[in-house]
Amino acid sequence: MTSSSLNTFPVGYEYVNFVNWSKEISGNHILTCYPQNTDELLAVINWAHENKYCVRPVGIKHNWSPLVIANGEDNSNVVLIDLTRKFKNISINKVGEHGYVTAQTGVTMQALLTELEKKKLGFYATPAPGDLTLGGVLAIGGHGTCIPAKDEPLAEFASFGSVSNSVVSLKAVVWDQARSKYELKEFTRDNAESSAFLVHVGRAFISEVTLQVPRNRRLRCQSYVNVVNATIFDRFSPFLMSAIHQPG
Ligand SMILES: Cc1cc2nc3c(=O)[nH]c(=O)nc-3n(C[C@H](O)[C@H](O)[C@H](O)COP(=O)(O)OP(=O)(O)OC[C@H]3O[C@@H](n4cnc5c(N)ncnc54)[C@H](O)[C@@H]3O)c2cc1C
Repeated sequence: MTSSSLNTFPVGYEYVNFVNWSKEISGNHILTCYPQNTDELLAVINWAHENKYCVRPVGIKHNWSPLVIANGEDNSNVVLIDLTRKFKNISINKVGEHGYVTAQTGVTMQALLTELEKKKLGFYATPAPGDLTLGGVLAIGGHGTCIPAKDEPLAEFASFGSVSNSVVSLKAVVWDQARSKYELKEFTRDNAESSAFLVHVGRAFISEVTLQVPRNRRLRCQSYVNVVNATIFDRFSPFLMSAIHQPG
């Protein structure tokens, strides 16, 4: 970064040494910021565009792939935007036994699932660890290992696939041609363009999502090693995903 462009950087920043969970991906002295709200988020993204920098959202850094930074390469044109400090709001709207949760993507899965459980809501299939961000999980098609029993009916609002299956709407940072700048735009699931934002391997920027959530259930985890793959994958069908219901 040249010192002149640094002078116009719109929010506070620091340089961090990036290292992922397995310590296989690392990079030193990478420009990083922590926007407080969506105005600051957009200001940073538009600054990066004007100054030919590349913006990367970053969560807990638990991914094994070089999605956030190029491993060991020159990352001097990268701006990391860390949402884990300020983009953590959760709001729950219970409708009968199921409901909706609107959450900012810097929230951890642990915090999200804990709040849902207090309202007797919960997903059936989620990644195992709690210290992953919602944004990081959605970006890579994060999923659990749970599948329904044979002939088990799918509960309303439930899904056994990726967490992204439960997305009802999302807010993404997109280019506004008329205004020649990046803006935040909401996409509902019935918008054909929304599918590009459901699993994007970190090449989109999602600030907030609304997910439909079924009634919480106590699930028992048991390990078997005698089930053949054809039997398991036979259960991964479209029927593993409930219809998406827009909040009415
Ligand atoms: C010990 C361990 C166990 C795991 N178990 C499971 C499992 O059971 N099931 C499973 O599916 N996965 C599992 N994972 C993988 C994990 O779900 C992914 O690596 C996930 O992407 C990590 O989230 P993170 O918050 O650490 O994201 P990061 O590693 O920080 O980022 C990952 C990607 O998400 C992008 N991203 C982050 N926030 C946003 C945002 N707001 N908008 C757009 N993109 C964003 C980043 O740019 C990057 O491309 C496991 C990982 C570990 C280390």
